[in-house]
Parts: sequence; structure tokens; C-alpha cells
Amino acid sequence: MIREERLNYNVRDTGIIRSMAKVRVQLGTPRFELVTSKLIQESRPECVFDFSMLDEFLNCHRSYLYRYEWHLTRIGGSAHSLIFGDGTHDALKAHYTLLRDKKIVGRPFDREEHLEAMERAFLKATHKAILANEFPMFIEDQPDGKRYLLNAWKILAGYLDTYPQENFEVLDIEVPIAYIIPYDLDGEVGEIIYIGRVDLLIQYLGHLHVMEHKTSSIMGKHFMASFRPNHQVSGYIGGMRERTGLPIYWGLINAIGVYKNDPKFERERVRRETDEIISFENQVINMTREILWYRDRIQQSTGTGPNEEEAEDIFYQNPRYCFKWNQACQFHILCQKASKTARHTLMAHAYAKVVWSPFKFHNMKAEDMGVQVDERVKKIV
Ligand code: SF4
Repeated sequence: MIREERLNYNVRDTGIIRSMAKVRVQLGTPRFELVTSKLIQESRPECVFDFSMLDEFLNCHRSYLYRYEWHLTRIGGSAHSLIFGDGTHDALKAHYTLLRDKKIVGRPFDREEHLEAMERAFLKATHKAILANEFPMFIEDQPDGKRYLLNAWKILAGYLDTYPQENFEVLDIEVPIAYIIPYDLDGEVGEIIYIGRVDLLIQYLGHLHVMEHKTSSIMGKHFMASFRPNHQVSGYIGGMRERTGLPIYWGLINAIGVYKNDPKFERERVRRETDEIISFENQVINMTREILWYRDRIQQSTGTGPNEEEAEDIFYQNPRYCFKWNQACQFHILCQKASKTARHTLMAHAYAKVVWSPFKFHNMKAEDMGVQVDERVKKIV
């Protein structure tokens, strides 16, 4: 149980961690042994996070509560942007798998073969949403004229024409990471498991890079600048260092602009120094500490378990986030209801319980990651 006064903790002693990180980076010691270490057995089961959980917590505590603590998701409410992003990721995975495999056997690049593989992968990822009328095929059914099937295919063709054969080597595709971040909460020692999936690990300009695909319809002047600072990039570079024991400092942002007319493609390298990775680890520890404190407050408020109304106020709203990216938050209709009864009636009818498990979402088993989990952890992974 985390006590309230733990908020008054001292900032984590970074000295030891700093020297540990330096040794890891300089010697390139693989961390797999540490992942399977005894420490993981002692990790708190509730200390498993991924980027989306922590990002949502930063955006709006209330939306974090609804999605990741109460596991609510709006029925039929997946945003077109999410479906489009998933389809694009699968299409790029098909493309780079083909590119890597053909290079190994020395077959030449064939644009049509790649395009067909990408279109099939996109369709496979989105066909259920298309059949359920949750994702449009044609521009007439898409109010913003951007995210629909035929435009996706135009964008994928444009991508191949822009980068027909890459000037980097694909080393690995969709690489799962379970980034172990040791913590010391005033004497309680354990590990946070930060789960993620890196789109590509590549060798580019003589350096290892973590490559991330990003779809966006607002690639303005601040778009690339938004990746430093950026927790996901730091976590994925830090996590890949952890996983491979290799000195990885670079990320490559692969931006795919989704527009009505011509698509836009941009790439930019982003770097992370060791100090930034250490800072990221400390920030994750502090976010975890806050989340545990909030959970603890809920327990304390009733003595027996969460009181829902009080929980909603403990995880307070951030109304500035309700329409971020020009889209309504999936919980906006809940937040507009004044009474608890009205909110809970709506929850029962317009929302489904879809349990969020970082391991499952990233399509991996804890055991496959070399993570030995105890019974408490198994309940949530
Ligand atoms: S509607 Fe606004 S306040 Fe409510 S959960 Fe979403 S972002 Fe938070």
C-alpha cells in the first residue's frame, strides 16, 4: 500500500542508475539476464504500463481512469484515425518484410508486388471496420475527405514512389520490448515494466535507429519538433538499448501525411542522449508513483474498495484535452452528464468493457519476452 506521504519523496537517486546506464551503454552488456532476474518476481503487478497508458494519464486523468482502470471503450467508437493508422502500420510491415526477405535471397524490387502486399495488408487490418460501417471506403462517406480506403491505397502507392528502395538496412520488424525500469519507492524496491513495439530497427548512416511510422493530417511546422521531447521515442530508444544491450541513440520518424489531395512524406532523425534516457526512466517512475497514489486514495476513501463517484473526482478532468487533434474524446458524452446515475446508465449502454493489457495489445506473451511473472502479474497480462 502506498502511503499518502510518499508524494513527499525525494527525487530518485540518479547517481547509481546513471552509472549503471553508462556501464550498459559503454560495454553493451545484454540486459536479458537482468530481465529474468529475481527482481521481476518482486515487481508490483500494477506496475506494467505502455506508452498509451502513460500518455493518456498525462493528457487527462479522467480519461485514463475510464479507459485503463475501468477498461471502458465506446461501442463502435473507434476513431477513423486509429483504424487508418493501424491499417497503414500493417501495410508498411508487409512492405518491409518483403523488402528484407527479397534482399536476403537477392530478388529485385518489384513495385507492383509490394503495392499489392501493402493493399492486402491494409484491407486485412480494416475489413471488419469497413463491414461494420465504422470505416468508409469512398470519399462520399468520409466528411473530412481524408481517411477512407481508396485514399489509403493512393497514399501507399505514393509512399512506394517516394521511397522505392530504401537507403537503410532493415534489421528487425515490429520488435517487442519489455523495458525494465528499477524503482525504489522509499525503500520498496521493484521494477516497472514498460511495454512497447518498435516498428523497425534499421542500420542507417552507420548507426542503429529505431524507426517509427506516424500518420498525421496536420504535419505543420511543429510536427517534427514534437518528437523531442517525446516520451514514446525516449521509451523506445531506451527500451531497445535495454533489449539489445547496444548503444542506440537515434530514432527516425517516418511521417505519412494524410491529405485530401496529394499525400506528404517526411522523415527526420531524432537523437536521445544517455542523460535523456535516464531522465525518461525517472519520469516514468514518478508517473507510476502518482498513479499508485491515486489508486491508493480510492481505496482509502471507502476502506473496502473504489467508490466510483469519488474515483471520478480523484482522477480529475482536463477539459483542455476534450477536442485534441480536432476530435472529440471518446468519453465526452460521459463527461457531459451531471449526475453519477446518468453517467453510469450511459456507461452500461454505450460502452463495452475491453480489458486493456499492454502485453496482449502489443501481441506478446510475458514469457516470450523472457519475463518470468508471478501469479499476481499473470492476472493482468
Ligand atoms: S471528455 Fe475531456 S474531461 Fe472527459 S475524459 Fe475526455 S478529455 Fe477528459
